[in-house]
Amino acid sequence: MKNFDVIIIGAGHNGLAAASYLSKKGKKVLVVEKNQNVGGLAEYSDSLNCVSPIIKKELNINVTNVDKTTHIVSLEDNQNHTVLEDNNGKLSFLKTNAEEEDQQKFLSIINNYKLFSKTLGSFMFQQPPRVKSGKKSDLFQLISMGWKIRKLGKKNMRELLRIIGLNIADDLEDNLSNNNLMGLLSHEAVLGTNLGPRSPGSILTLLYKQATNNNIFNLKKIEVAEYIKQLEDCCNKNMVEIIKSSEVKKILTQNNSVTGVQLTNGEVFESKYLMSNADPKTTYLNLLGAEILDTDFIRRVKNFRNKGNVAKLELVLENEININNIDKNMYGKFIYAPNIKYIEHAFNANKYNKYSDNPCLEFYVNQNTISANVYYVPYLLNSHHEENKIIKRCVSILSKFIPEMKIAKQELTTPNKMEEKFNIGGGHWHHGDLEIDQLLMMRPFYGSSQYSTPINGLYLCSAGTHPGGGLTGINGLNAAKKVIEELK
Ligand SMILES: Cc1cc2nc3c(=O)[nH]c(=O)nc-3n(C[C@H](O)[C@H](O)[C@H](O)COP(=O)(O)OP(=O)(O)OC[C@H]3O[C@@H](n4cnc5c(N)ncnc54)[C@H](O)[C@@H]3O)c2cc1C
Repeated sequence: MKNFDVIIIGAGHNGLAAASYLSKKGKKVLVVEKNQNVGGLAEYSDSLNCVSPIIKKELNINVTNVDKTTHIVSLEDNQNHTVLEDNNGKLSFLKTNAEEEDQQKFLSIINNYKLFSKTLGSFMFQQPPRVKSGKKSDLFQLISMGWKIRKLGKKNMRELLRIIGLNIADDLEDNLSNNNLMGLLSHEAVLGTNLGPRSPGSILTLLYKQATNNNIFNLKKIEVAEYIKQLEDCCNKNMVEIIKSSEVKKILTQNNSVTGVQLTNGEVFESKYLMSNADPKTTYLNLLGAEILDTDFIRRVKNFRNKGNVAKLELVLENEININNIDKNMYGKFIYAPNIKYIEHAFNANKYNKYSDNPCLEFYVNQNTISANVYYVPYLLNSHHEENKIIKRCVSILSKFIPEMKIAKQELTTPNKMEEKFNIGGGHWHHGDLEIDQLLMMRPFYGSSQYSTPINGLYLCSAGTHPGGGLTGINGLNAAKKVIEELK
């Protein structure tokens, strides 16, 4: 039976980041991946704004900027689209029907959010502190968090504390009058979450996203496939063993400590240290099994909210794609979320596990292909998606802006299909909702934060841990650092 220093379940980008780090430190690492290809949900990601600078430095990841997509196009039914240019984080309007005053206010709201998210930014890349641990390092981190917020000054600190639990719709309606601009910012706040623009906490998700991506509009600055390849190369260079097309069936334990994993084909690998890149709920309930967890802990696992609601639509057209009223040199990230009311209506259906006839879209165009995130398409428990109906609705929305659409190929991947392919419960973008009670030192939930679990030797390293999803790799890196500490 083969024995390893550390076994990692799953080769999502976080699993690969963890494996790279551990192997660079001389550890013998095995990664078991269910699918033929590594990268997990990154397969559906179009935009990658910035890989964490810590990952780049510590793993020698050297991804080149593609830098070709600097435009954000917010589509309007009346074809008066808004086009923004993002010049290294500095936004300017290239085209809009918003009044000059609204444009200025919009940019000023973004600058305010930028200031607040910078304060949060310093916490994103670290392991979150533990309250009441009695450790000096945790206390120091908590004090430093408080100090960074205090350093904003009285006025800004009050404003941050005022808006942090607010819904984005209220803040935007207080300041702006242009519906399209309000729709655009609301879209960025709610995409990938289980919130609508009127849900409390939707400003926090926007600040959070801005803090991890260093930008409010996550654009395509780096090729996702290149990032994943470099992580895999880094693993290979450091002799990580990656077994593909193999699924872990069970985490093996003895006396509340990890002893190894058993695969679905019966094969067993031994290790005292195990990291799970699967989502927290799946890790505890399916791979570990509830029988060795206490009742209160199981209740917390079950209460972790992880219903995904973003589907991926890939369209291949026979003809080249032209968007009405937009010059080709302004193409970039397209968004159809025309106003707050429209997004909120789509969200209302989602609350009842239904999909709206009028979904929101975010998409990229490449000559004759469209790759779109469609929301809200809720994960369904006891029924199935009417895929053709959803595709038809999306095509009907797209055809308002693309005069000729001869479809050669179409494919919709729903959250249910994502769950089936990657074992990610709920098919959730972040492996679990990003809401105030599931963030920072509370992520995923009390008793399992800071990448640890109640089982000795078992660690979590997926998007379900701090700082959540997206392609930062920080979850994997922080979890690996924790294991290195333990191994010492
Ligand atoms: C539709 C969609 C679009 C997105 N677009 C973007 C975007 O544009 N930009 C962005 O930054 N983020 C985007 N995201 C979010 C981002 O892709 C995810 O947050 C991120 O990829 C999660 O990475 P991870 O490594 O934590 O987990 P995952 O990528 O989910 O990896 C988990 C891995 O574990 C494997 N696994 C699970 N169970 C087992 C088992 N029992 N045995 C073996 N292997 C197992 C899975 O097969 C998978 O490979 C998007 C997400 C979705 C759903």
